[in-house]
Amino acid sequence: MPPHRRLTVLSGPSGVGKSTVVAELRRSHPAVWLSVSVTTRKPRPGETHGVEYYFADDAEFDRMIASGELLEWAEFAGNRYGTPRTPVLERLAAGVPTLLEIDLQGARQVRESMPEALLVFLAPPSWEELERRLRGRGTEPPDVIERRLDAGRVEMAAEKEFDLTLVNTSVQDVCGRLIALLAGTTEA
Ligand code: 5GP
Repeated sequence: MPPHRRLTVLSGPSGVGKSTVVAELRRSHPAVWLSVSVTTRKPRPGETHGVEYYFADDAEFDRMIASGELLEWAEFAGNRYGTPRTPVLERLAAGVPTLLEIDLQGARQVRESMPEALLVFLAPPSWEELERRLRGRGTEPPDVIERRLDAGRVEMAAEKEFDLTLVNTSVQDVCGRLIALLAGTTEA
């Protein structure tokens, strides 16, 4: 039987801890390939071009859309984010466990274009916990936090569109489950 080269997508509301999970996976499981997105958002302190994101201006992002370079893209809280297509397809073809960490709109686009993808919803232990995490982040001005909370309320309702839910009670637990899923998606 040929390898089952399935893309895994991790999504969920902003502030749920997706980027913490991804940072832990990058540290503990370097064999997993994590797609690096392009964004028009400005870098946060500590972010490095080519590691967390490729930082681009609007003109460059427009060019990437027009030339079909993005597998999916979405506007989120006033910035645009997209997944470069070629690196993902190359890793999948090579049988490398491949993970995208993207927002809900992007996950829906992947569902359309790659119906075999495994869509994983990362849920907070509770809405109150999500709100606490978003307000406590301290890196964003209040209006941006409000926009992210609004987006989060809509995103929480999308759980039913996903193949499975992981509740983010502990980063280690979520990472362990994701690794098991990713291993399952590349085995014969
Ligand atoms: P942040 O600005 O906090 O890094 O990310 C904001 C949101 O954008 C998060 O929900 C994150 O998952 C999402 N995101 C990051 N990269 C991509 C991408 O390539 N495509 C889409 N659709 N969303 C992304």
